Amino acid sequence: MSRRGVLATVPLALAASCARQGLTADPGAQPGKAPTSPGATSSTTALPRSPSPSPSPTPSPTPTKPLPYKVSGLLPATDVPDGRQPWRDRSAKKVDRFTRDRYGVRMFEWKGKLYNHPVAQIQYGLQNLSAYRATGDVFFLNRARLQAERVISKHVVLRGAFYYPYPYNFSHGQHSGLNFRAPWYSGMAQGESLSLFSQLARLDAVPAADRQEYRQVAERTFPSLRLFDEVNPWVVNIDKGYYWIQEYPALAPGAPDYTYNGFIFAILGLWDYHLLTGDPAAAQLFDASCTTIDKYFTNFRNPGGPAYYCRTHRIPTPSYHSIHVVLLYALHFLSGDERFKTYAELLKSDA
Ligand SMILES: [Zn+2]
Repeated sequence: MSRRGVLATVPLALAASCARQGLTADPGAQPGKAPTSPGATSSTTALPRSPSPSPSPTPSPTPTKPLPYKVSGLLPATDVPDGRQPWRDRSAKKVDRFTRDRYGVRMFEWKGKLYNHPVAQIQYGLQNLSAYRATGDVFFLNRARLQAERVISKHVVLRGAFYYPYPYNFSHGQHSGLNFRAPWYSGMAQGESLSLFSQLARLDAVPAADRQEYRQVAERTFPSLRLFDEVNPWVVNIDKGYYWIQEYPALAPGAPDYTYNGFIFAILGLWDYHLLTGDPAAAQLFDASCTTIDKYFTNFRNPGGPAYYCRTHRIPTPSYHSIHVVLLYALHFLSGDERFKTYAELLKSDA
């Protein structure tokens, strides 16, 4: 598929029809999330290499290069009931108070101006898909697609992958060092977009040609979760052998945020993408991601209080506590592993 093909999908007629509905979106991702930084140059992914030829004359197993990050067999479950799949628990309402533009696309207000906000638009799209599943009302499907098309229309191709830019400068008020200059990119948006595009690609109500386009967009986006931080832009890195998807990858003044909620939201996207494609690389990143959350749960948890928002600043954040609980339950459903249920229950008992 050509890039033109993808962009040509933007259903202008649909946009126009949805535009009349009006509606706004809520921030979804906290206002101002996502990061990126300009800078380096070079590329390549340090993902698993194929086995190199063995010098041994006997057909012994070919040596495989060790993975650059830890995995532990936390593979995506493939028999998850629909109601427990990502985003089924968050539905949009027909009438809401979210800010939107004249087309009905959710917008984000920042310092007196309206901007496209990838995570807000993606989450709004997913919430509308959820409402469509629950009601069968095509209004919600159209509105979901409108958000998806806007996100797609803003994509840029960097390092061979599709990235979705944040078009405004942003400094986090509470978490020091998170200073981004537009355009910047977030692993949360990259991962969540996989949920939106993969879910649309699997919906019978979407015309086959459009489903194929959504799949192709997802396939162009997925590699961004395998392009590490040796070059900009990047949204994933390996730290002490563990794989991280960074909601705020900023490096200045030295460390990304290691935000927990944005990471886990992105993991849901890996699961959706794996369900759509069966790609073993997606299963491996899902495994690596869950392995990281499992390893760092004790760092994430704040016994007797609200969990920490991120690993870098460790600020207990009551407004995210219930979101963290729901996300850990989601990892339990999507991996089938009981540990995440235990973690969710521990957090629940803390605050
Ligand atoms: Zn932080």
